[in-house]
Amino acid sequence: MKVVVQKYGGSSVADVEKIHEVARRIVATREAGYGVVVAVSAMGNTTNELLRLARNVSRAPGRRELDMLVSVGERISMALLSMAVTDLGAPAVSFTGSQSGIITDEAHTSARIVAVRPHRIQAALEDGKVVIVAGFQGVSRDKEVTTLGRGGTDLTAVALAAALGAEWCEICSDVDGVYSADPRVVPDAIKLDTLSLDEALALARNGARVLQADAVALAHRLGIELQAVATRDASGNGTRIQVNQLPPRFAAVTSDTLLVRVSGDPRALLPQLAGVDIRRVETDAVVVDTRNWHDQEIWSGAPPTPIAQVVAVATGPHVQTMDLLAALGALEAAELAVLRWEAAPDSLRFEVAHADVGQALRLVHGTLVAHS
Ligand code: ASP
Ligand code: MG
Repeated sequence: MKVVVQKYGGSSVADVEKIHEVARRIVATREAGYGVVVAVSAMGNTTNELLRLARNVSRAPGRRELDMLVSVGERISMALLSMAVTDLGAPAVSFTGSQSGIITDEAHTSARIVAVRPHRIQAALEDGKVVIVAGFQGVSRDKEVTTLGRGGTDLTAVALAAALGAEWCEICSDVDGVYSADPRVVPDAIKLDTLSLDEALALARNGARVLQADAVALAHRLGIELQAVATRDASGNGTRIQVNQLPPRFAAVTSDTLLVRVSGDPRALLPQLAGVDIRRVETDAVVVDTRNWHDQEIWSGAPPTPIAQVVAVATGPHVQTMDLLAALGALEAAELAVLRWEAAPDSLRFEVAHADVGQALRLVHGTLVAHS
């Protein structure tokens, strides 16, 4: 089942009518065929009011008790929202942070998420339920209730999206997306349809209020696509904040290795390679550094073949499968033997005989770099 995580901020659930509006939006997403997991904030100004109450009772309230207190705000909204969704005919269940498996460190009022074990959420989704999670809270390893810092519901949503393998994570609020400048100040600011996570991170760190900086940083680290949308806008036309997929922009060659074919167990020959830098040992070959391969006399195996790697450098967390296929296809069409290929988060690597490296570089550059 495809899962979408939606976050609703405090102003989206500020009163009964708004809770019903959010419930309708959740049900619409479910009817579009998705499993829906919601991270909800406390209603309106609840968190501030609870904090004010604490300060009226005690001059220096302890952080543990503050967490016990403010975590209640999200428990109220989660339960009410779950009731409203269920009334629309979509069975829902609410879970606290603890019940959702959001494990944090012990730092009360600004805890960090250290693990997410969403077993109960997964079971409820499999039962066909909409899951409403209390945002902004977790549980420490010693079973204390913790909170994640102000605005922490965004973090809950991103962490759940990652743990559940969600398609994307919607951040639903009063504003309908990210603008080129604050539209309340700059009337001709334009709404951006898409943004890269790199840009979003830079924006959030430099004061843009639409996105919580810690949550964007987490999404950036985990490669989670975000959508900033207005709760009121059922069409969901907001700003998509995508995983950066920059095309490869450089191709380079490393050519300082020798491939030594070995018949039988490579371990028998390894002692003869003392003093040589071994790059890797395969079941039928050893790849060594050319620079200190000199004493051929003691070597009783087959003569080594100079090899090289053509590397297409692509930044961004995901190497594109189509790039890999295109490059392999071009090398194959040229009847160029690829000894080994590798896709790493920052690069695509093709190992070829040294004699072929110029042609391989031209082909990889032609298909991936010049092409993009
Ligand atoms: N209710 C909490 C706060 O006001 C968490 C959140 O809004 O995300 O900080
Ligand atoms: Mg709030």
